[in-house]
Amino acid sequence: MHKKLFIPGPVDVKKDVLEKMATEMIGHRTKDASELQKRITGKMQKLMYTKNPIILSTSSGSGLMEGAVRSCSSKKIAVFSIGAFGDRWHKMAVSNGKKADKFSSELGKPTTAEMVEEALSSGEYDLVTITHNETSTGIMNPVEEIAEVIKKYPEVIFCLDTVSSLGGAKVEVDKLGVDICITSTQKCLGLPPGLAICSMSEKAIEKAKTVENRGMYFDLLSLYETIVKKDHQYPSTPSLSHMFALDYKLDQIIEEGIEERFDRHSEMAKYVRTWAKMNFEMFAEEKYASNTLTTVKNTKGISVKELNEKLGERGFMISNGYGDLKEKTFRIAHMADTTLDDLKVLLKNIEDVLEI
Ligand SMILES: *Cc1c(COP(=O)(O)O)cnc(C)c1O
Repeated sequence: MHKKLFIPGPVDVKKDVLEKMATEMIGHRTKDASELQKRITGKMQKLMYTKNPIILSTSSGSGLMEGAVRSCSSKKIAVFSIGAFGDRWHKMAVSNGKKADKFSSELGKPTTAEMVEEALSSGEYDLVTITHNETSTGIMNPVEEIAEVIKKYPEVIFCLDTVSSLGGAKVEVDKLGVDICITSTQKCLGLPPGLAICSMSEKAIEKAKTVENRGMYFDLLSLYETIVKKDHQYPSTPSLSHMFALDYKLDQIIEEGIEERFDRHSEMAKYVRTWAKMNFEMFAEEKYASNTLTTVKNTKGISVKELNEKLGERGFMISNGYGDLKEKTFRIAHMADTTLDDLKVLLKNIEDVLEI
């Protein structure tokens, strides 16, 4: 039996979208492949509110996260971490031989504009990474306030991880001044995992030209140059199957209405938060609670593992807490094509299993 997924990726994928993955192959050096890349670019630019070129990578989001820090820093990186995915970005930087400092917030709290100001004012950094939506703690960072600070440091490349938010919350890349905005297909976009997507600013491209040892597969400059300068082609063979599905899915997203899609996510988030507060507690500081998933504090001391097993028998799946937060929290995703009605059914089933 298929379990309906309420985990923060991979998400359930609609049948018609899955079927697009089975489109017959075309040559990757053909006009058709270029056209496909161009169509995706136009639609992704709408969803990201940017005029910057769009780069696709056949990898999960982590590939472009690693590529960004490796390709665009020659001095030192300021990594702001509010949980597991910020920590991972720091690890990526260090393991690529980059100098990087990590600025962590208490779990369940956001990165503040003050923290960013304090770090950048030292003048030590040429690249900053921010997690827009931390999927372990369920925090959505105050990115507008953070962006205002980063704008004061025009020599700094601004990288933003929107892997678990893009397509479910508004991220105005150009207005925020984000140089590299990264996402992947298996979360709010509602596609299977396997493709990473980013926008890349002129400033980031110019910076990459000055950085040595950018590697090869995730060299953002090489990706940019083949995709944008060589008629929207790839340095290596891309997952055309994902591209067919993404092109199709983006039409659906635009048809739903981008703003309407964000509103649907907000409405679902509000509902789950209210439920969480009635029955447990929120893990995230509420002012910064995510629009795409809710991390619930396990104040009743239930066995999350057992709950999930019982939900599984009923055809549902939620997520345990991430890393150290396992059993201390559990996570309910409300992203991609999930509806409020789906969530109502899920929460009713959780209540039945727990007899609350
Ligand atoms: C899932 C996730 C990632 C990792 O993305 P992959 O596509 O699995 O590589 C990074 N950051 C955040 C915030 C995520 O939720």
